[in-house]
Amino acid sequence: MNSARIPPVIAAAAGTAPGGALVSPPRSQEALRRERRSAFEGRKLEKRLVRLTGQAVTDYGMIENGDRVMVCLSGGKDSYTLLQMLRTLQARAPLSFDLVAVNLDQKQPGFPEHVLPDYLRAQDVPFHIETQDTYSIVKRLIPEGKTTCSLCSRLRRGVLYRVAGELGATKIALGHHRDDILGTFFLNLFYGGRIKAMPPKLVSDDGRNVVIRPLAYIPEDDIARYALEQRFPIIPCNLCGSQENLKRKEIRQMVAEWERRFPGRTENSFHALAKVTPSHLMDRGIFDFAGLRPTGVPDPDGDTAFDDAPVSAPPPPAPE
Ligand code: SF4
Repeated sequence: MNSARIPPVIAAAAGTAPGGALVSPPRSQEALRRERRSAFEGRKLEKRLVRLTGQAVTDYGMIENGDRVMVCLSGGKDSYTLLQMLRTLQARAPLSFDLVAVNLDQKQPGFPEHVLPDYLRAQDVPFHIETQDTYSIVKRLIPEGKTTCSLCSRLRRGVLYRVAGELGATKIALGHHRDDILGTFFLNLFYGGRIKAMPPKLVSDDGRNVVIRPLAYIPEDDIARYALEQRFPIIPCNLCGSQENLKRKEIRQMVAEWERRFPGRTENSFHALAKVTPSHLMDRGIFDFAGLRPTGVPDPDGDTAFDDAPVSAPPPPAPE
């Protein structure tokens, strides 16, 4: 039927304008309210992420005037968020710095090569795609069924450090967040017997690059929500067919369970990483226990530190 001849009332009811064009059905007040609410929540979330990123960058002196920051982009939610946050800071911060996004195409089967270049071009972000078949190397060297992540990450790190030098980058930005940092802390504690996490800023193991983690203060859930709202073209991270590290998975479940039973525990544990009292640990390398002498001066961090520990008082004895 020729839609140009449909009477206007029937056309509207059928979702067709008199000229034949499709029209959307009118949205209810409730739907409009929900849309406005969700847009408002989205802006609030973005504001919080930008604030936390800015805070971490400032607290740890991650970016300086004139820096050229290489943003490592894997195509996962964290790296897209990282790039977006740094672009926002670049536009707003009083500092002047350059950004260059870098993706390492490791030649994993099924890797959609066009996704990142298309996205970066559309966003007008300068970028470089480095192609290196680390996938074959890992497959050749690691026996079937064994975890490949550790060799894969080592190879990837080496390539990225080299590329940073070639691109004249002064900082390498990675998308690790609060929960990666805390998870690494517990992994080291439970399985490595060390108090060690994942620092927000460090010198790379080849000694030539400074690595920064601007999302250090941001919880993973917030990043996941943000990535969903922004509709980032996510590239799945299981293309290599590797199983997730079981220990890391166990830690993640443990932290989630704690948080469910004791809300606030994750944030508290995370804050503890930035409040260390070396004199109350046992590492002779960071505190001179042998040289300890009375000072005659009261120490607020002395033994009284535990007097206010939030331990509930024992219940009063039951009456006889
Ligand atoms: S999941 Fe695959 S690509 Fe990622 S580090 Fe492990 S082996 Fe490499």
